[in-house]
Amino acid sequence: MSHDVISPVDESVIASIEQVDADGVDAAIERAVRAQSEWASVAPGDRARLLRRAAEAIDAAIEELAQLEVRNSGHTISNARWEAGNVRDVLNYYAGAPERHFGRQIPVAGGVDITFREPIGVVGIIVPWNFPMPIASWGFAPALAAGNAVVLKPAELTPLTAMRIAELCHEAGIPEDVFQVLAGRGSVVGWRFVTHEAVRKICFTGSTEVGKRIMAGCADQVKRVTLELGGKSANIVFADSDLERAAATAPSSVFDNAGQDCCARSRLLVERSVYDRFLELLEPAVKSFRVKDPSADDAEMGPLISAEQREAVASFVPEGAPVAFQGSVPDGPGYWFPPTVLAPIAPGARAVTEEIFGPVLVVVPFDDEADAIRIANDTPYGLSGSIWTRDVGRAFRVARAVETGALSVNSHSSVRYSTPFGGFKQSGLGRELGPDALDGFSEVKNVFIQTGE
Ligand code: NAD
Repeated sequence: MSHDVISPVDESVIASIEQVDADGVDAAIERAVRAQSEWASVAPGDRARLLRRAAEAIDAAIEELAQLEVRNSGHTISNARWEAGNVRDVLNYYAGAPERHFGRQIPVAGGVDITFREPIGVVGIIVPWNFPMPIASWGFAPALAAGNAVVLKPAELTPLTAMRIAELCHEAGIPEDVFQVLAGRGSVVGWRFVTHEAVRKICFTGSTEVGKRIMAGCADQVKRVTLELGGKSANIVFADSDLERAAATAPSSVFDNAGQDCCARSRLLVERSVYDRFLELLEPAVKSFRVKDPSADDAEMGPLISAEQREAVASFVPEGAPVAFQGSVPDGPGYWFPPTVLAPIAPGARAVTEEIFGPVLVVVPFDDEADAIRIANDTPYGLSGSIWTRDVGRAFRVARAVETGALSVNSHSSVRYSTPFGGFKQSGLGRELGPDALDGFSEVKNVFIQTGE
């Protein structure tokens, strides 16, 4: 069975991809099991060298991968270049790991005690459609570095870059059975990763709803699992902040990638004393946000991923919705939706409480610091967020009080390959990236050697 891949930019079919069936998944997992023990015994320096060569191969293909992502996912070309570069950087970062993934020597009586970091075995990585390249690499690079084999399932809508990345890694010398990309359905390929005993860990990024099912499925075999799920992050603007900069950057914090970003700051919380002034500053920034052909160098936003996604997003902006102002979109084919700001809006409205995963921002006023923290935390999610203030003490107080995994002050950055990323509450479980991610791809083994009587 094959699946047509459709460009969200012009709705044309750009590829037809054979879907791996249940038998195909089992065969791939068996190959991965055999390949993994050999991979784990490759000398650390050689494993590092292979990962660096894979990074070089990605680097040489950045433009090709970026163009592919523009066509398959409708990402802007500048974002897509960053995404391909991120895969290279993540590979380079974890290429340092095989030679530095230390155990410990622990003082004990009567002998020597050492710990080893053993690979888990075969790791199943399940990737969503919103950032096909980076999210794949946040799983496969540290997993491979720690000596695991990887089976990776891209999303049905966006398989093309992951498939090409695997080819490039193979050309660079990473054995084919050590890193396999299996295109197919979530309920077939992804779920088989969960139920197959030889897959010892699942790295899932996607919706909270599917993530909960994956976690329950993993419980059956006490399978290791990390989850990166949804978000409803707050951008908190205090009256003492640089309002001009906060307003100029607020659109990209939520409309980047057409809002299809788990870290999107989709709730803008503004101190009541500057609320009207802030909306005045925000309006031109939203209206001038460049929504256009994503292959243009100056495009800031492309289309949504699919007709279904556009319908789901539109359901948050029904007839009579409190639209304060809206940007514009190109005419013609493509799954476009304009940047939209909803205000004033009731605290219990769906657009305030649910993840929209599209270019829709709600603006909510707050009275003081305590009120801002209360509203920011009034959600089952806890992934990301921003705090705008010139008061250093307040910046730290609020950053410590907001229940999310990745915050930025006077900026909107969430993701760096060298720092941990992941969610509190229902936004996830475990952390990716940064120095500690390897712990999630290895088991600690303790060995005691008796030296005396
Ligand atoms: P999704 O949950 O529908 O699908 C994610 C992946 O899981 C896809 O590859 C899909 O095929 C697979 N899948 C679906 N059903 C499955 C099943 N029963 N068993 C195994 N695999 C299955 O999510 P999506 O619509 O692709 O992505 C959007 C969601 O991802 C949003 O909620 C977003 O917030 C979240 N997300 C989170 C992060 C993060 O790091 N926290 C990053 C990106 C996206």
